Amino acid sequence: MTAGYCAWHDGPADDVALIVVHEQGSGAGGGAYACLPCARPLARQRTTSAAAVKAIAAMETRQEQLEAARAAQEARRA
Ligand SMILES: [Zn+2]
Repeated sequence: MTAGYCAWHDGPADDVALIVVHEQGSGAGGGAYACLPCARPLARQRTTSAAAVKAIAAMETRQEQLEAARAAQEARRA
């Protein structure tokens, strides 16, 4: 996972992914880093690049693994 700065909520995040959004009618589009809560709704937008959608899915997987590891740790402690 990549700790970094989320350009969407304008603050630090534990995990971020580069999100490229294709501007309508223009060429390359702009890219910025987003955390998972901010990126989730972007994954459903048609203007979000395929690579970004993949990056968001990878971030979801990392989050699930983190939560599973945390739950396992809690279970051992109990
Ligand atoms: Zn964010």
